[in-house]
Amino acid sequence: MTRLSVRLVSGSVCLFLATVSLVAQSPLGAPFVRNPAIAIDEDYTKKIKEYTTAPYFSSPLVDYLPASKTVPTPKAVLGDIAGAPGILPYSADVHRYMRMLEQAAPKRVKVVSIGSTEEGREMIAVAISSEANIAKLADNQGRLAKLADPRTINLDDAAAAQLINATTPVYYITGSIHAPETGAPTALMELAYRLTVDEHEYIKSIRDNLITLITPIVEVDGRDKMVDVYRWHRAHPDLNVPPLAYWGKYIAHDNNRDAMAVTLKLTENVLNAYLEWKPQVLHDLHESQPYLYDNTVGDGPYNAWIDPILADEWEMLGWQNVSEMTKFGMPGVFTHGDFDTWSPGYLMFVAALHNGISRLYETFGNGGADTVERTLRPEEYARQWYKQNPPLPKAMWSQRNNNNYEQTGVLVSLHYFAQNGPLFLRNFYLKSKRAIQKPRIEGPAAYVLPADDRRPGAQADLLRILQKQGVEISRATATFTVALPVKKPQPPRTTDGAPATGAESDAESPRAKPPAPASRTFAAGSYLVRMDQPYSRIADALLDYQYWSPNDPQKTPYDDTGWTFPELFNVEAVRVLDLKALDVPIEHVKTTIRVTGSTSGSGAATIIEHNGETGLATLRYRLKNASIAAAEEPFESAGRTFARGSFIVTNITVDEVSAAVREIGLKAVSVASVPTVKTHPVRAPRIAILHSWLSTQSEGWWRHAFDDAHVPYEYVSVQDVAAAADLKSRFDVIVFPPVGRSPEAVINGQPTDWGNPLPWKKTAETPNLGTEDQTEDMRPGLGFAGVTHLQQFARDGGLLITSMDTASLAVSAGLTPGVTIGSARNLKIVGSVVRSKVVDGASPIAYGYGDDLAIWCFNGPIFNLTNVVGAPGRRPLGPDIGTRPTGRGTLDDFDVPQGRDRVEAPEEPKAEAWQALPPTDDQLRTGINVIPPNARPRVILRYADNRSLLVSGLVEGGAEIAQHPAVVDVPVGKGHVVLFSNNPVWRGETEGSYFLVFNAILNFDNLNAGRTLDAK
Ligand SMILES: [Zn+2]
Repeated sequence: MTRLSVRLVSGSVCLFLATVSLVAQSPLGAPFVRNPAIAIDEDYTKKIKEYTTAPYFSSPLVDYLPASKTVPTPKAVLGDIAGAPGILPYSADVHRYMRMLEQAAPKRVKVVSIGSTEEGREMIAVAISSEANIAKLADNQGRLAKLADPRTINLDDAAAAQLINATTPVYYITGSIHAPETGAPTALMELAYRLTVDEHEYIKSIRDNLITLITPIVEVDGRDKMVDVYRWHRAHPDLNVPPLAYWGKYIAHDNNRDAMAVTLKLTENVLNAYLEWKPQVLHDLHESQPYLYDNTVGDGPYNAWIDPILADEWEMLGWQNVSEMTKFGMPGVFTHGDFDTWSPGYLMFVAALHNGISRLYETFGNGGADTVERTLRPEEYARQWYKQNPPLPKAMWSQRNNNNYEQTGVLVSLHYFAQNGPLFLRNFYLKSKRAIQKPRIEGPAAYVLPADDRRPGAQADLLRILQKQGVEISRATATFTVALPVKKPQPPRTTDGAPATGAESDAESPRAKPPAPASRTFAAGSYLVRMDQPYSRIADALLDYQYWSPNDPQKTPYDDTGWTFPELFNVEAVRVLDLKALDVPIEHVKTTIRVTGSTSGSGAATIIEHNGETGLATLRYRLKNASIAAAEEPFESAGRTFARGSFIVTNITVDEVSAAVREIGLKAVSVASVPTVKTHPVRAPRIAILHSWLSTQSEGWWRHAFDDAHVPYEYVSVQDVAAAADLKSRFDVIVFPPVGRSPEAVINGQPTDWGNPLPWKKTAETPNLGTEDQTEDMRPGLGFAGVTHLQQFARDGGLLITSMDTASLAVSAGLTPGVTIGSARNLKIVGSVVRSKVVDGASPIAYGYGDDLAIWCFNGPIFNLTNVVGAPGRRPLGPDIGTRPTGRGTLDDFDVPQGRDRVEAPEEPKAEAWQALPPTDDQLRTGINVIPPNARPRVILRYADNRSLLVSGLVEGGAEIAQHPAVVDVPVGKGHVVLFSNNPVWRGETEGSYFLVFNAILNFDNLNAGRTLDAK
C-alpha cells in the first residue's frame, strides 16, 4: 500500500469517524459497532461467517474483513481465509505473507529477522503501527531504552514523565511455540492485515498509540513438522495420524520451560528481540482450554521475585479482557484458573522478570484445521465464580472459531493498552526504577561469585546465562570484605517444615556446625552481580532459593518448584545484603564470559585436576589419540595435591594438549615424570543415546548437553535395540535418558494389534520429518527382545545408564539384581532441588565431587538394596522388627524365659537406608540367591537425611526417600547398569550433576575401581 492510497481510504470515511469514535469511547463501554461506510472484503467476510460454527463464537471485531485495494489479504498466500478448514501454512508461507504486507504497506509494517533455529529456519518479528510511529521507530526505541534503564535519567520522575508523554508503547505477541497448537499463525496473519488497513477508529487508535510486534511462529521447526503431519492426515483421512514425535531439534513441549537457562535458540531469539525492542508486554498464544483462558491471573502461588505492580497489571488486563468479551457474548472466557505463576521458566516470563508484563492465552484448538465436534469434561463446562458464561458442553469447533477468539482477545487487549499507554509506560518505568533500587529496598545488594571457585568453567557458564538475560556482571578489582547476615538459630525442622523429633535428629544436625562467620573477604577478580540494575529481578530469581510450603493451598504445582542455579551448577554464589558490596571497586565485564585455559610447567606428562567440569569430557574426545589415565587416589605432584580422578595425559605433544586445554578452558600442569599413583585408562567410548518413539523431550535435553560438550554419540531408537542382538559390537555405553512413561509403555510402545503403521520419515509428502531419526512405524516399543539385548549388552561388558523411569524399567525388568523400588505413599517432590551425600567417593562416578551436591528430583524412584535376589527391599511390611516383645525388665532389657538357661539373643543385623542388610547365616547356607560381594550394587550417592534434604522447592513426605540411594552402580556380568533416581541432565539447568554421567561413560570399563567388597 502506498501512502496516497491510505489517505484515499481514510478520506472516504472521515465523515463517519466521529460517530464511530464516539461509540468506541463511550463511557458506557458500548461494544464496537461496525461503520457501514468502511468498505469490507465481501468474499472474505462471507467465508468468515461460513467457517464460524455459531455466531457467539465470533465478535463484531472480527466478523468482517476490511477491504484494501493495495494490501493483500491472507488469502493471497493461503488460497482461502485465515482459519479455513483444511489449511495450515508452513512457516515460510506465513513469513512470506508478512513480507508481502511490508511490501504493500512499508510505512506501516516493518519485518525483521530475529535469528535462526537449531535446524536453520528463520524467526521473524513484524512491527505494525502508524506511518508516524514507524517513521520514528529509532527515536521511540531511544526513549524506551531510557525508561527501561532509569539510571540514564538519574531516576528522575519528571524526566521520565516527559519521556512517557512522547513515547509509544510496544506490545509483543508470540504465536505457536507449541507446535500442535496450530491456530496462532493464521490468526496473527489476519490480525496483522487488520492492524495495517482497517480505518475503524477502534483499530486506528491501536495503530496510532501502539507499536504491535508479532512473531507469528516461535517454534518454526516444529511448525513445519506439524504441517507435514497434518497434510499427511489430509492425504490419509481414514488412518490414525503419527503423533508429533519431534518439535524442535531437541525439545518438544518443554520449549516453553526454557526462559531460565535460555538453552534453545527460539528462547534466545525472542529474548534478544525483547531486550532490543523493550516492549511493555510479551503475550504468548497457546491452545489447550475452551475457549479462552487468559492465564496469568491464574492462581497462586505467584512468583516471589516479580514486582507487585505486575500482579496488579495482570488483574487489570485479565479482567478487562474477560469483561469486554463477556459483553460480546462469547462463552468460555476467563482469567482465573489452575495455572500458578511460580516458575519463571515460561517464555512469557522473559517479560515478567525484565520489568514488562507477561501474558498467556490458552484458546481452544483441534490440533490441526479440521472442524470437529468437541465434547468437554464436566469440570471444563461447569459454571464457576470466575466463569459466569462457561464453555458449551458440546459444540462444533473450527480453526476459524479459534482465530476469532485469539484475534478478539488480542484486539481488545491492544485497544485497552493503546488507550492507557501512559499508565503502562509509567508502570514500566516504575518497575525498572524499583529494580534498580532493589539493594536499598528488599535487597540483596549483590551476589558474589568468588574468584577462587573450584569450578571456573561452570561459573562462567552460569554467568553467561545471566549475560544472555541482559544482566550486567562486574568484577572486583581489589580484595573486599562484606558483612554476612547472621541467621537466627532455628529449632531443627524436617523438610516438611515440622519440628524434628527423635529419629530426625541425626548426624547431619546443623546444631553440630560452628556458627556462620559474620563477614567474608573475597579476592580481587571475584564476580559481582549487583542488584542496582534494571534486570536485577531475573538475576535474583535465578540465584536465590525457593521454598514451596507443603501446606500451600495449591496442591498441584504447574511446573518445577525449585531451580536455584548456583546449587544446580555446583558453584558458589553468596547472597550479600551489606550495601558495602556496592562500594567495591569494580570493572564492568563487557565481553562474553569464558574461561581461557592454561598450562604451566613442562614435561612429558600433563596433569589436569578433576573438578567435575564438562570440559574434561570435551578434552577426552578431542584428544582421541592421547593416553589419559585417571588417578584412583589423591596424589602430590608439582608441589600440590590433585583430587582423585584427575587426568594424567601422555603420548601427545605439549603443544597439542596446551592448545586443547586453552580452548576448552581447563587448567593443566605439565610435569617431567608421570606421578606414581595407581591409575586406570580413561576411554573415549562409543556412545549411543537411546530414545523411544513415545516421547523424545527428556532425552532431548541430554542430547543438547552432549552436543554442547562435543561428546559424540550415535542416536538410536528402542526399535534399533530390539532388532540388534549384539549391541556390544557397536557400542560401549548406552545412555537411556528418562522417557516420561511407565516401563510397560516403553516396552510395549503403542498398540500394534490394531490400527495402521505410523510412519515418521522424510518423504515427498512429509519433507520436514525424519531429520533426527526415522521409522516406518512409530508404534513398536523396546519389546522383551530389546530388554534381553540390553541385558546381554551389559553382560558383554557394556555400560547402560538409566535415569528415573528408565531406571525403574531396568529394575523391574530384572536387569539389576539387588535393587528394588519402594512405593511412595506421601512423597511429593515436584521438580525440586534436593541434597545428596557421597557414599562411595572412591567410585569413578564420584570423581571430582565433594559432599552435598544438589540434584534435581521428581518423586524418586525410591531405591532399596538387598543382598538376596528375590527378597524384598530392606523395609519389611508390618510392624517394625527389632522392637522388644512384652516380658520382664525394662525397654532395653532382654526377656528371660523362666525355668531354663539364659541365652542372650544375638544382635539384629542393622543397615542404613542406603545399604543392604548383611546376609544372615541362614541365607548364606542356602546360598543360591545370595549375591556375591563383587556383584552387589554399589551406592555412589544417596539422598541426604530428611532434615537437610530440601534445597529448593517442594519436599513433602521426604522421609520416604531421605537417605535412600540416589545413584547406584550395579555390576552385571562383565559390565554395569547405572541407575539414577534423579535426572542429572535437565533443561540446561543442572550442569553440576552432568559429570556423574560423563564419569560413568569415561570410566565405563573401570567402574569397579576403588571398590571395597563386603566380607561375606
Ligand atoms: Zn501450549
